[in-house]
Amino acid sequence: MRIYHDEDADLRLVADRQIAVIGYGNQGRAQALNLRDSGLHVLIGNRDDDYARRAREDRFQVLPIEAAASEADLLMLLIPDEVAPGIFASEIAPHLDEGNAVVFATGYNIAFGFIAPPPTVDVILVAPRMIGAGVRDLYEAGRGFPSFIGVAQDHSGDALAIALALANGIGSTRAGVVEVTFAQEAELDLFTEQCFGPAFGHVLTTAVNLLLEEGYPPEAVLLELYMSGEFAYTLGKIAELGLVGQSVLHSRTSQYGSMSRGVRFTLPELRLKMMEGLEEIRSGQFAQEWAAEQAAGAPTLEALRQAAQSLPLVQLEQELRRSLRDMPTAAQVQQMDRMSEPEERRSPAQGSQPTHSRGLLGRGLDWIGRSLGKPEADAEAQPTAGTPNQPQMEEILRRFLAQAERDPALQAFAQDRELTTHYVLRDSQMEFTMCFQGGEVIADMGPPPSPPEVRLETDTDVLDGMFTGRINAMRAFMSGKLSFSGEARLAITIQQVQDDLCRLYSQARSAVR
Ligand code: NDP
Repeated sequence: MRIYHDEDADLRLVADRQIAVIGYGNQGRAQALNLRDSGLHVLIGNRDDDYARRAREDRFQVLPIEAAASEADLLMLLIPDEVAPGIFASEIAPHLDEGNAVVFATGYNIAFGFIAPPPTVDVILVAPRMIGAGVRDLYEAGRGFPSFIGVAQDHSGDALAIALALANGIGSTRAGVVEVTFAQEAELDLFTEQCFGPAFGHVLTTAVNLLLEEGYPPEAVLLELYMSGEFAYTLGKIAELGLVGQSVLHSRTSQYGSMSRGVRFTLPELRLKMMEGLEEIRSGQFAQEWAAEQAAGAPTLEALRQAAQSLPLVQLEQELRRSLRDMPTAAQVQQMDRMSEPEERRSPAQGSQPTHSRGLLGRGLDWIGRSLGKPEADAEAQPTAGTPNQPQMEEILRRFLAQAERDPALQAFAQDRELTTHYVLRDSQMEFTMCFQGGEVIADMGPPPSPPEVRLETDTDVLDGMFTGRINAMRAFMSGKLSFSGEARLAITIQQVQDDLCRLYSQARSAVR
């Protein structure tokens, strides 16, 4: 694969053309400033609000988006991907002239068919692999950052050369840019967000959970694993020197230990899950699901955000951050506090504890109990604790499912719905199915006759905790104790009848035990 640099790009190709940067946010501001400092003609298209004000303060001409689109030869679409299709159709497409170029910073909307520009324009990708602040800071420091460039439509015959010129203008060819298709850029980006990042997050939380369970002080655990910044620094060195190359920066004990033990963690399931995620992305299933979620007002996203913010780890991190120096500023901490205020902020007992070591430890242990749903940790507080054994569980589930079929609340939920949910209890190899269809509930032990919309996998104690109200299902999901395949939106709609499922399960449980 060829990597292009400054010498491959000719800025003169775009020197006389009017560039309109639509959007003045993370990428918009950084790219607009860099392009202007590279000697190019740049104006901004934005609604008349704070972003527009900031652009004027930076001495740009700011026009409404439609007017900017009319003026521009090269139009750089740097607004959030979810609003871009609507804005493109209503405010940009009617003003495109033959020979214009529309430039995207991600392949998403073209790759998944949400934007279809007319055939008379170039459709170009210049997608920095760098956040907006970095795009500007590195440019000012005389350094570069890599980008992906691409061409989806080459009406002018010069589309690749224009992509290179713009990549040069924003400072990216100083480091090097590679050519990819719009689909490759979008798929790689989504894979990083949906497979690599979450898998990595689960490795981290698994390590935190294990070390807290084993009694290590929470502050020490968080500092050791990531909050000291050593790990982030090491990642920087991996980028600079390579995964193996950076190992010389570590002690010989570290080198021997990590290489000799590393082979234990080649987990085949990880690859399978990543493949599953990649297939959802490539087939467009994720893009369709996300479009439907947004059309519904993004209730699932909101529920997931709330669940994530209520994880006790978030609170532990805040406590530790407050005690450390040279961490984010007070204003940033306040902002984080506001965003992450857990619903059940603190029980009176917790609130009365000091906020240093003992308080943290108490909360750390409480967290293990609550987020991992260990029955013994909940036993005192919850009279329903104590997981049923396998024969008991089988009998409870049979009764529960029989009641579910006759329950009016579940039947009401099943109106106008077609949803089959397959529950798999990994530790006991029991499985059961609940099918909600046209006002009817069909529930039985065993797998469904045809592929379900949602498949949930967990362990018996977690299911028992969820259905007795001891364990928050969203939290179990966020902490990896409950996993699902299928549409997240559908999986989360089951939350609507969680109270009814709890009621029926608890009745069955009381009858058996
Ligand atoms: P931002 O969220 O920072 O964009 C904010 C800008 O979009 C503001 O100018 C805002 O103006 C405008 N905007 C928001 N909503 C609307 C709307 N409904 N109608 C019109 N304008 C709107 O976006 P990013 O810079 O993060 O992302 C821009 C593009 O860059 C995306 O395609 C993204 O995928 C890509 N990208 C982003 C990276 C990043 O680091 N963030 C990295 C690489 C690529 P106002 O609200 O005033 O209308």
